[in-house]
Amino acid sequence: MYRTHTCGELRLANAGQEVTLSGWVQRSRRLGGMTFIDLRDRYGITQLVVEATAEQSLVEAASSLGREYVIQVKGKVVERQSKNPKMDTGDIEIIVSSINVLNKSVTPPFTIEENSDGGEDIRAKYRYLDLRRPPLQKALALRHRLAQEIRSYLDKEGFMEIETPYLIKSTPEGARDFVVPSRMNPGQFYALPQSPQTFKQLLMVAGYDRYFQIVRCFRDEDLRADRQPEFTQIDCEMSFVEQEDVLNTFEGMMRQMFRNAIGVEIPNPIPRMSWYDAMDNYGSDKPDIRFGMTIHEITSLVQGHGFSVFDSVPYIGAIAVPGAADYTRKQLDELTEWVKRPQVGAKGLVYVKYNADGSVKSSVDKFYTPEEVKSMAEAAGAVPGDLVLVLCGQKRKAQTMLGVLRIEMGNRLGFRDPKVFAPLWVVDFPLFEWDDETNRFYAMHHPFTAPKPEHLDWYYSDRKEDLERVCANAYDFVLNGTELGGGSIRIHEAGMQERMFEILGISKEEAEYKFGFIINAFKFGAPPHGGLAFGFDRVCALFGGQETIRDYIAFPKNNQGRDVMIDAPSEIDAVQLDELCLDIRKHE
Ligand code: ASP
Repeated sequence: MYRTHTCGELRLANAGQEVTLSGWVQRSRRLGGMTFIDLRDRYGITQLVVEATAEQSLVEAASSLGREYVIQVKGKVVERQSKNPKMDTGDIEIIVSSINVLNKSVTPPFTIEENSDGGEDIRAKYRYLDLRRPPLQKALALRHRLAQEIRSYLDKEGFMEIETPYLIKSTPEGARDFVVPSRMNPGQFYALPQSPQTFKQLLMVAGYDRYFQIVRCFRDEDLRADRQPEFTQIDCEMSFVEQEDVLNTFEGMMRQMFRNAIGVEIPNPIPRMSWYDAMDNYGSDKPDIRFGMTIHEITSLVQGHGFSVFDSVPYIGAIAVPGAADYTRKQLDELTEWVKRPQVGAKGLVYVKYNADGSVKSSVDKFYTPEEVKSMAEAAGAVPGDLVLVLCGQKRKAQTMLGVLRIEMGNRLGFRDPKVFAPLWVVDFPLFEWDDETNRFYAMHHPFTAPKPEHLDWYYSDRKEDLERVCANAYDFVLNGTELGGGSIRIHEAGMQERMFEILGISKEEAEYKFGFIINAFKFGAPPHGGLAFGFDRVCALFGGQETIRDYIAFPKNNQGRDVMIDAPSEIDAVQLDELCLDIRKHE
């Protein structure tokens, strides 16, 4: 028997017991003839002691242990003299009677402890060593727990877990596809799924009225901290449901996940906000509602006073930053530079200091009387002591910039505690998004999303203004300013689907080529259906109180989309290329 207990298990109640432990040597140190060893496994760390009075051979064995040696020890559990309240096993230690080296280790390239001394690149190269560290083990344990909660909840609700293929044809999510050449069909390619969207809808046609899958999806996009080229979705679809049924079902799932995985009770019901309110008040379709500082439009109040910047734009909006009236000139200059960065894109920043004594000072004092400046501040929701920040431009663009500024100020003021959870459903999305550059409509969610039944007249109208007004039965699940998931009630009728492709400027031939199979399937009695998908990696990260998803994926890619541990992607040899009938062009 390699072990009687794990390294995270023993407590004071075990004192006096003879035990056997196996694990990795995290560190060992000699102190006045005694050797102390931290023995680690994924359950925790237990302190081992080889006493100065132990047999010579045992003392020698202990002193020859290197970091990350795998050992088995036998010994007796005793109460510690100096307890360590930070460790679960900190009340006890093991007086070692024998050491058996199960395997040696070369010296690891970085320390494998709670906080490692290794940089990101070296830890990525030796990911299997990094994965020995407690924070990553905790992260993957949380991921596992959440996956179990999802399965148990959905099983209880009658959902069937069904796998869908990875080697498919393009899906409609709108990102770039990863493609796989087919040896048996030279010159032809599979696409890896951006999501199982079309398959889950076909499963509804097939009568599997409650489907789910924890499934890998692939999107060839530029990467950011919270993006990976392959990522995992909790993908779900239901038949004979309306939006209300879908939202209720998945509120239940989230509630169980929060309660059972991290012991948090979320609001019941989860609040809802229309997309329009989210944009107008928060400048974002994924508002962080843990704090206020909402956007107020002040256009009519401030126009017509000779300030040409304000007079030449259709929209002027403001936020009131609580308690920030004492911002210095230097801080305001820095903030002005900050909003001018390309990531925000503002041309400038107007401010009003609403001082604690009720007086005002603004960067536009030339154009307004103090009373007018004060009413500007009050219209932005400010009270004495607040700093009002004003941005202007095209309505949605200015609102979005204010939304980014709001989040920045929320961060600076410490309003975004990762241990506070504020879930939200954003609903009533517009069905279409107009793009000036390409001069066409795009589906805001994806082209299988149904218009609201009460907007069908507009849906079949040819006027751009009508189409812009069509709302979808689409919904996003938002947590703390991050979109964790989204979905919609789908089109289940072939004619309505054809109209969708027409509006999106997808020709009959192209629609037939790309999605002919699903349009055809809709002719064979497709039930009304709808669903959604959550980004599982992001769910895990947020539940764990982190921003980046990488720690919650066992083997993630880096920012260049590379796995530096296995060194992928890599070239393939001439024989393989030949079999695939592929020639590689020199890359400039
Ligand atoms: N397939 C969609 C997505 O990946 C989710 C859905 O509509 O169910 O965003």
